[in-house]
Amino acid sequence: MSAPDGKYWNKELETLPREQLEAKQLEDLKEIVQFAYDHAPYYKRSFDEAGVKPSDIHTLKDIQKFPFINKKTQRDTQGVGSFLGELAAVPEEDVVFVSTSSGSTGVPTMSPFTKKDFDEFQDTESRWFYQIGMRKNDRYVHALNFSLYVGGPDVIGAQNLGALCIWGGTLPSERLLFILKTYQPTIIWTSPSYAWQLGEKAIKAGYDPKKDFSIKKIIVAGEAGGSIDSTRKAIEDLWGAEVFDFYGLSDIFGACAAMCEAKDGLHIAENHILVETRDIHTGEILPPGETGELVFTTLRKHARPLIRFRTGDIGRIDYTPCKCGRTHGRIHIQGRLDDMFIVSAVNVFPSDIEAVIHELKEVTGEYLIRIFEKDFTCKYAVEVEKASGNTETDEALAEKVSAALKARIGVKPARVVVHPDGGLNTRSEHKSKRVIDERNIDYNI
Ligand SMILES: [Zn+2]
Repeated sequence: MSAPDGKYWNKELETLPREQLEAKQLEDLKEIVQFAYDHAPYYKRSFDEAGVKPSDIHTLKDIQKFPFINKKTQRDTQGVGSFLGELAAVPEEDVVFVSTSSGSTGVPTMSPFTKKDFDEFQDTESRWFYQIGMRKNDRYVHALNFSLYVGGPDVIGAQNLGALCIWGGTLPSERLLFILKTYQPTIIWTSPSYAWQLGEKAIKAGYDPKKDFSIKKIIVAGEAGGSIDSTRKAIEDLWGAEVFDFYGLSDIFGACAAMCEAKDGLHIAENHILVETRDIHTGEILPPGETGELVFTTLRKHARPLIRFRTGDIGRIDYTPCKCGRTHGRIHIQGRLDDMFIVSAVNVFPSDIEAVIHELKEVTGEYLIRIFEKDFTCKYAVEVEKASGNTETDEALAEKVSAALKARIGVKPARVVVHPDGGLNTRSEHKSKRVIDERNIDYNI
């Protein structure tokens, strides 16, 4: 591994001319598809059924001949034939670590790593930490869940970089604030909603997050907020710190992509992941720059290769040169396909609504979205909190929020409910539930 050079953890890799980067991707793609075919029972069967062979790959585009997999494929094949299941391509004795998904959308799925997979995962995390400016003299609090969660071990990437690491995990807020005050760490990683709530709690506990703490950088992941400019700005103003968004998948790495100082999308580790974008209606593969479901092929993970994995995340990839000099493409994530709902033929993401709420000074920033059906038509309602000190009537505020949503999204909410400051119970430790989909319930009535 090369030594850090200026602002790059691995300058050669991060600034590789695209032609060479794509040549390396092609070489690894051929190898991993062959490896998957030879060692994972599922791929042998599925490629044979589709009439494709690893030797059919001559260019990166040839991956389009191969079948997709998704979360259901993982669920259906795990535990089948062996402990690690039919997508695994190595014997269990070669596996040193497994993470599992949260199971928020069904049975949790397990992601195995060989020693080499795990070391490369941590080197990628070191690269992201270095990219946001973490150095040896930083004190870093890793405030992510350590239980089964793939984001837990990311802290090793910070340790390998040489930072002083505090394994915070999901501590209660009071203890985390004690750490921020007593140890004066400079960087913290948590979810965007929790970064916001922790700042609010600090103020209520009598601290000034800008003066009493030394936090200069906040890493956020796990929710769309970090890629919403108004949300990032609100957290930055609260803490007097810079906010960087990271993006990970339990199926691959704790962070597969991360913002650089330009904050214009997240650089994805293209040496590990080949990105395609799939039209959510037609299933066609879209040209770079167009928005659709992101499909990832892992190029170097041998324990369980993912060939054309439909992530369920909606976004686009941008290959235009970035100001930072890195050549790896940048992804812009809009939200989860599961969370998208269609109102009057308009695709709406909760992140679009959040962006509007966080731009309005008249509300606290907390919100709850309800999606429901009336007369066989999908509708949405939004609940907000009036900022303390705001003297306008609830009716006037509701009208203002409704107009702002209509202007940004194109469709008005069916209603806006105004609560007093603190009236919504959406504030929770580390991960908030802010969308309630009532559509199935309405169907049953
Ligand atoms: Zn950049």
